[in-house]
Amino acid sequence: MKLALHWKILIGMILGLIFGYLMKNMELKEIVVDWVKPFGSIFINLLKMIAVPLIVVSLIVGLSDLKDISKLSKLGGRTVGLYLFTTVSAVSIGLVLANLIRPGDYINDESRKSLLENFAGDAAQKIELAEKAKSSGPLQPLVDVVPDNFFMAMTDNASMLQVILFVILLGIGLILIDEKKAKPVVDFFKGLNDVILKIIDIIMLGAPIGVFALMAALMVEIPDFSTLNALLIYALTVVLGLSVMVFVLYPTLLVVLAKYSPIKFFKAISPAQLLAFSTSSSAATLPVTMERVTEHVGVDEEVSSFVLPLGATVNMDGTSLYQAVAAVFIAQAMGIPLDLQTQLMIVVTATLASIGSAAVPSAGMVMLVIVLGQAGIPEAGLALIFAIDRPLDMCRTVVNVTSDATVATVVAKSVGKLHDVDK
Ligand code: ASP
Repeated sequence: MKLALHWKILIGMILGLIFGYLMKNMELKEIVVDWVKPFGSIFINLLKMIAVPLIVVSLIVGLSDLKDISKLSKLGGRTVGLYLFTTVSAVSIGLVLANLIRPGDYINDESRKSLLENFAGDAAQKIELAEKAKSSGPLQPLVDVVPDNFFMAMTDNASMLQVILFVILLGIGLILIDEKKAKPVVDFFKGLNDVILKIIDIIMLGAPIGVFALMAALMVEIPDFSTLNALLIYALTVVLGLSVMVFVLYPTLLVVLAKYSPIKFFKAISPAQLLAFSTSSSAATLPVTMERVTEHVGVDEEVSSFVLPLGATVNMDGTSLYQAVAAVFIAQAMGIPLDLQTQLMIVVTATLASIGSAAVPSAGMVMLVIVLGQAGIPEAGLALIFAIDRPLDMCRTVVNVTSDATVATVVAKSVGKLHDVDK
């Protein structure tokens, strides 16, 4: 029996949820934490382990294939333009929906109080993290992109942009030197690239088990939250917005700009989407996103190796949409009116905050503090949305990954690098 990978992952996910639910109800939480969860951590570690070598090697191979610098700037310009366009669209959709549905109006005094009390400590922790990020000067993010030590950058999970910058310089160097001298270097990396892709195939054999363990652990560890009307409506507003992105905006971009069938596209990338859902991390999902987009969608590695790692770090449509809805929800719940100017401010800050969010679980919520601060909404309001953040994080990560894959496909088409695949 040969089931497609996405079915296996889906089955692992569902079984994990059921198993976790049963164990929680039988008060056997410890067993899951001690004996099941580690397999989930091993799986995530494996993915993270291969992510940096994959980015480095495939970006070198991709760039050296470009052969001239003008192609690189064309690719870069289109990628950044599309990333900005999708992110701003996401924030706008989030704002429109939050203003139409007004989820914050459904909250009553009692639940507001209990939410604020229950999660005040956790929220304070996140606020502290965000304050740290904010306290540096306006140009600090730019300075942070330039590593003073390449090897340190490679070992630090948070510095994917630094690695990308170094590798781009390396790639440009390879394009500029004599072709005869560049060839052995490029050939070496080409061979290594194939090896790394094989390793990802091997890691993915364990995906159903890894995902099972992650879901079971999530189920026993998630806090019980009473189904409060307003929270549920808020969550539905976010999910509705995310669905508009996945089912309307991306398919439209694919059809109009890339002449690519959305059904074929979703079939090709679904393992990456499922993994994004179960890991809540675009960075951990990146190796699989790259493999699916290159080998199953048909985007040339020259494009995918540049567009996808960049997108995983800076292009987070799901996160920005969520931040917009969350900011408006908190303002509504606390009775703070938001005028048009403040809402436009949210468009700008949510775009920047999503670019600044790391591709790891909960990062979007940490950066939300900055959006709240700029819009004059009390940061303590974070406590209101704390309880329901994890499921929303899972959903927004799916959108983040889908967006990167969509942009990669559109950019590939625009530079004639989208191939037919018959898988
Ligand atoms: N978990 C998200 C990601 O990795 C970021 C976020 O928290 O919104 O894409």
